Amino acid sequence: MAVIVDLEKCTGCGNCVDTCPSEALSLDGEKVKIDEEACIDCGACVDECPVEALSL
Ligand code: SF4
Ligand code: SF4
Repeated sequence: MAVIVDLEKCTGCGNCVDTCPSEALSLDGEKVKIDEEACIDCGACVDECPVEALSL
């Protein structure tokens, strides 16, 4: 499992990127990109997203 992103909602603000302890998040243009191998399902990024684009 890995965090799920709703790309329709993501604005590419980057808030979540620095929150991730395992560097699973990065920006790809104006959308977030998730490295599913690196994600440890901690949920830290979910609360950081202002538009609720992330969920577990
Ligand atoms: S759930 Fe945790 S490990 Fe996975 S992308 Fe979000 S902050 Fe990173
Ligand atoms: S915090 Fe939300 S809107 Fe901002 S880049 Fe991450 S997923 Fe996209």
